[in-house]
Amino acid sequence: MGRKQTCILDVAFDVVTMEEAAEKAKSFLRAEGQHYICTPNPEIVMEARTDGELRKILKKADMVVPDGIGVVWASKYSEKRLPERVAGYDLTQRLMRDLAGTEESFYFFGGAPGVAAAAARKMRKDYPGLKIVGVHNGYFDEKEEKKILEDIKKHSPSILLVGLGAPKQEKWIAEHMRQTGAKLCIGVGGCFDVMSGNVKRAPKVFRRLGLEWFYRLITQPKRWRRMLRLPVFALTVLKER
Ligand code: UDP
Repeated sequence: MGRKQTCILDVAFDVVTMEEAAEKAKSFLRAEGQHYICTPNPEIVMEARTDGELRKILKKADMVVPDGIGVVWASKYSEKRLPERVAGYDLTQRLMRDLAGTEESFYFFGGAPGVAAAAARKMRKDYPGLKIVGVHNGYFDEKEEKKILEDIKKHSPSILLVGLGAPKQEKWIAEHMRQTGAKLCIGVGGCFDVMSGNVKRAPKVFRRLGLEWFYRLITQPKRWRRMLRLPVFALTVLKER
């Protein structure tokens, strides 16, 4: 299956709609071997400029989708336009909806203690028949990490959601995917915080207008320093167009 991709500041994104991304993700479950999906936002695209390891991981990913309207905007200046934002949160919700009641299973790994478990309870309620075979929080030392890997392997999930924040989760997946045995790994950032209800997603109007970043800025002002990278990203895109 050929891939239609477009480069944004040297990160190759797959030119897919949400629908196509979900179908492709499900095709990975039927395919041979293991796969992983990255969902970079502008901050991560910027980070990849100075982080060679991250760059390599993004290059080797089986699918890269834009989690951020800034990336979709930037594609105006690349060879092909990205049709829409494919947020990691929406993609995973979609997969859980489609796979509930099937044999495919999930494992939630990441977030503060208790968050992944709360997210799992909520998702089982939202998607009856959904199989979540294990959860673990995302704060661990080396010894604990070994146990986590064993636990994941023991429960052999089809899909492992890794929410350690970017780029930690991407590096974790690249290093450990093999040991987990999961068919598909997805780096999901703070998704468990949202699934559990601890953090609210921006209201629909903000999302429709492409202003989710603005909503997050006013509700989580701690993020402002990270968000300074947004205008830098925009300027870099314009300069390199
Ligand atoms: N996190 C974690 N382990 C760590 C650092 C962070 O599990 O060592 C979790 C944190 O609890 C949060 C998520 O990773 O749930 C990061 O959320 P954020 O919204 O910052 O994600 P990003 O925007 O970086 O993808």
